Amino acid sequence: MSAPRELRVAHEVACTEAEGPFRRYALWTRGCSLRCPGCCNPGLFAPGDATTPVSALARAIAASQRAHDVEGVTVVGGEPLEQLAALTELAQETQKLGLGVIVFTGYREEEAARLPGFSRLRAAVDTLVDGRFDARAPEPEPRAGGRRWIGSRNQRLIHYTRRYADPALWSAAAGGADVELRVLPDGAVETVGAPRLVAALARALAGREG
Ligand code: SF4
Repeated sequence: MSAPRELRVAHEVACTEAEGPFRRYALWTRGCSLRCPGCCNPGLFAPGDATTPVSALARAIAASQRAHDVEGVTVVGGEPLEQLAALTELAQETQKLGLGVIVFTGYREEEAARLPGFSRLRAAVDTLVDGRFDARAPEPEPRAGGRRWIGSRNQRLIHYTRRYADPALWSAAAGGADVELRVLPDGAVETVGAPRLVAALARALAGREG
């Protein structure tokens, strides 16, 4: 019997409408060796030591399904594919719950396909958003016709199922939040959503504090 898988996780949000179509459980993995210039998450480059069992994450996702009726799970990074085995197990557990799976990766799919075991992940994922973030070619704002949640024009939506294949789901027409702010029980402020909007919100909040 193989050892239980563990995932290096930086952050989880039990329910958000700002990380993909519909209501979602979102999870940020830790560790990325790709280092795209202008990356919005440089704090997640280092892998760190802390890990979370996939079984615990699966339980949290199931609880989110019961409590918030989430439609699916979004995994972003960091670079999720640098933890391919654990990510695959998480995607499979999510699939068993009947939930959709979206994974954002900096790898082009052609690169990802050369990773041993990628075909198993592909079978458990509905949509892969692929490619390095290119700060020279940012995705237009959704209200200007750009795709929501996508960082740069070169990044592709690769649909392995029809679940999220309707382009309208990725457009401003779908509605939902572009950025969310919530105050946690410990008083900390959590922001979720399009990185440039999160950054603008953080600047605005910092300005009010000054
Ligand atoms: S792949 Fe993602 S997390 Fe990694 S450097 Fe590029 S944008 Fe940042």
